[in-house]
Amino acid sequence: MPAAVVDAQSAHAAGVQRLLQSYRAVPATAPVRLAKSTSNLFRTRTKTRAKGLDTSGLTRVIAVDVEARTADVAGMCTYDDLVAATLRHGLVPLVVPQLKTITLGGAVTGLGIESTSFRNGLPHESVLEMDILTGAGEVLTASRRENADLYRAFPNSYGTLGYAVRLRIELEPVKPFVALTQVQFHSLVDLVAAMDGIMATGSLDGVAVDYLDGVVFGADESYLCVGRQTSAPGPVSDYTGQQIYYRSIQHVRGGTDDRLTIHDYLWRWDTDWFWCSEAFGAQHPLIRRIWPGRYRRSSFYGKLMKLEQRFHIGDRIEKLNGRPPRERVVQDIEVPIERCAEFLDWFLDTVPIEPIWLCPLRLRKDGDGDGWPLYPIRPQQSYVNVGFWSTVPVGSSEGATNRLIERKVGEFDGHKSLYSDSYYSRQEFDELYGGESYRAVKKRYDPDSRLLDLYAKAVQRR
Ligand SMILES: Cc1cc2nc3c(=O)[nH]c(=O)nc-3n(C[C@H](O)[C@H](O)[C@H](O)COP(=O)(O)OP(=O)(O)OC[C@H]3O[C@@H](n4cnc5c(N)ncnc54)[C@H](O)[C@@H]3O)c2cc1C
Repeated sequence: MPAAVVDAQSAHAAGVQRLLQSYRAVPATAPVRLAKSTSNLFRTRTKTRAKGLDTSGLTRVIAVDVEARTADVAGMCTYDDLVAATLRHGLVPLVVPQLKTITLGGAVTGLGIESTSFRNGLPHESVLEMDILTGAGEVLTASRRENADLYRAFPNSYGTLGYAVRLRIELEPVKPFVALTQVQFHSLVDLVAAMDGIMATGSLDGVAVDYLDGVVFGADESYLCVGRQTSAPGPVSDYTGQQIYYRSIQHVRGGTDDRLTIHDYLWRWDTDWFWCSEAFGAQHPLIRRIWPGRYRRSSFYGKLMKLEQRFHIGDRIEKLNGRPPRERVVQDIEVPIERCAEFLDWFLDTVPIEPIWLCPLRLRKDGDGDGWPLYPIRPQQSYVNVGFWSTVPVGSSEGATNRLIERKVGEFDGHKSLYSDSYYSRQEFDELYGGESYRAVKKRYDPDSRLLDLYAKAVQRR
């Protein structure tokens, strides 16, 4: 075994020991939390004085096995670091979420998604095995064969069954460039039909498609972003400076072509946090010119957003202007592809938010069909993830628009991610997110309820 891998393994083992020590130091009555320098969680949480778990030794890639196309990765390693380590070998994880600071453990427990999800499913499907610190304070290995109930229930459990400290994941080879075609649509029905066609055949106009997502700017202006890997050398665009990726998608008619390095393609949405950097003025040409390049990234905007939330700056400005405060509507939901256009029509008529991000997904064909009880999407069914991240004027009750969306998603036979605000009743939540199956696994791996319950975390914001 190469010396670097031996070193990384012993550093990892020491990291696990520090995590365990910090776990044992948490009083039995105090809540257990991770101490992490980054987070992509949106819901506000009850403050606690208890010290978080020490994850400082769990942020690295432990080993990349180029031949087996797998990587052993510490649970709190960011995709930024993970991709940097694997891309050196021409390999990447099967699904790379768009934001650099999302961690592998976070994406597996919180369901990441990206433009490979139409062919590679979701990040947890490419986990071969993981070591999990359970609520009982033990580190157990979970896989399809070992502690399979924990392995199955872990996706969408948001750290309430345990924390992944090491994950072995599959990797896939990539070429150095991505050739992009941004295809314009004037009808959402046509856009969804084209997306469905690509999912069914894996190609567009007879050419294989490797990456697929889309952006809706309005009912009569939307785009599919179709990417193909290529080794052909040639000029590439750069959206990390003055140019802005999502603006490059919009054009007058037909389709436009573009090229990015694979690295820049994977992080194309991070520089401007999709389009959300606009809220901070970062897209204004004058401000952009003086905005330091190192702060043009989602993690920095995330910090600004948290400050805004803490001091209610937006609401104060609205008040000064004589307008009502605003409700945060930051959500990703999934609807079956057949209902997607209908859902978008409803959304655009009802919720004043655009652009909207679209990302098709289907569970992997080679999946074993045993399912993921906490996020039960059907195999062989194509879904579209619909992402909308903004604010709307407050309604007559707390979370009025979020509640309306939750109801609509249910009517459309869809699902909602839990990284942001949720308002479900306990009974609705149980029906949607695993109920009895969750409780059985929770009881087995966290018998003394050291970790929060999923409903308490996701809905009650504890
Ligand atoms: C604004 C926003 C945009 C997003 N955009 C995308 C996107 O573009 N693509 C995408 O795929 N996803 C996206 N997400 C969802 C994101 O992938 C999930 O929220 C994910 O859980 C975040 O991972 P993190 O590493 O940042 O974890 P954190 O935000 O630190 O934690 C999230 C939750 O996961 C738990 N957790 C963290 N690490 C572990 C671990 N190792 N083991 C067990 N539990 C753990 C934490 O306890 C917490 O409950 C977005 C979320 C937000 C808020």
